[in-house]
Amino acid sequence: MDTLQDVFLHELADMLNAEKQLVKALPKLAKAAATDQLRDAFEAHLDETKNQVKRLEKVFETFGKSARGKACKAMQGLIEEGSEMIKEEEENVSRDAGLICAAQKVEHYEIATYGSLCAWAKELKNPAALKLLQANMSEEEAADKKLSQLAQSVVNPQSNNGHETAM
Ligand code: FE
Ligand code: FE
Ligand code: ZN
Ligand code: FE
Repeated sequence: MDTLQDVFLHELADMLNAEKQLVKALPKLAKAAATDQLRDAFEAHLDETKNQVKRLEKVFETFGKSARGKACKAMQGLIEEGSEMIKEEEENVSRDAGLICAAQKVEHYEIATYGSLCAWAKELKNPAALKLLQANMSEEEAADKKLSQLAQSVVNPQSNNGHETAM
């Protein structure tokens, strides 16, 4: 990695692999959700994620490179934590609260990576790549906010129903 473009392409390959892992993982999360709204949120983000893969492939094109992936170990680990929760816990609204937490860790990892990729695309004077990366970044930020709202308005209160403590 001698140049900023080298490090950019390295992280881009990592992110392409990460998004492809999520295309496989999100249907499992949707299936595991006990709450209809959470299932819908995972399914909607699956559609967005498929489109994010296409955008990343286009980013490679804007640099005159063919798209390639590089195993993202962080995403493997984050997905593994969600899978463990599905395997080890009963399906209920409290598990949904845990699944939201796992999913938000994924969104924050994505946001961190897209933050650097956007900054580098700008520095490398590639506005076409920047636009594509910003589109992905906006969807991750919106997904993260949607999960917070769902947790606060539906999942956490339902999960805590009957266990309120005086504050
Ligand atoms: Fe994504
Ligand atoms: Fe990664
Ligand atoms: Zn990685
Ligand atoms: Fe995402």
